[in-house]
Amino acid sequence: MKRSSLTIRFSQTAKDKLEPADAQLMEQAVEAARNAYAPYSQFHVGAAVRLVTGEVLKGNNQENASFPAGICAERSVVYYAHANYPGSAIDTIAVTASPCGVCRQVLLESEKRKKSPIRVLLASGNEVRIFDSVKDLLPFGFDSF
Ligand SMILES: [Zn+2]
Repeated sequence: MKRSSLTIRFSQTAKDKLEPADAQLMEQAVEAARNAYAPYSQFHVGAAVRLVTGEVLKGNNQENASFPAGICAERSVVYYAHANYPGSAIDTIAVTASPCGVCRQVLLESEKRKKSPIRVLLASGNEVRIFDSVKDLLPFGFDSF
């Protein structure tokens, strides 16, 4: 048996130290969170993506009394991007929280589908973690063995 280890690389900085384009994208995610529909969890999440074309799109979590019918902010904006901009890869996604496992898998498949790494900015309080690829968030994805 061979033992292995895994290193995950990311950067961390304060929100007010982000590059202007990243700061703007994170602000769009924060703005999107304000419009989330989260009457059950009270956990409002926003996400914003910047496509390689420069277009910025926003999404937020949308809950439902039938719980599985709800959707996370990340998936709402990624599916919107693929539905309306099928030829454009996602360059960067900013999220006001840490993605759940389902969203990590969806982001990973989006990255593979477009053959283009997605930068991920995750906010936690005043700090932001920056990943160069979704692979760093989900190194052993559903179909990656
Ligand atoms: Zn999720």
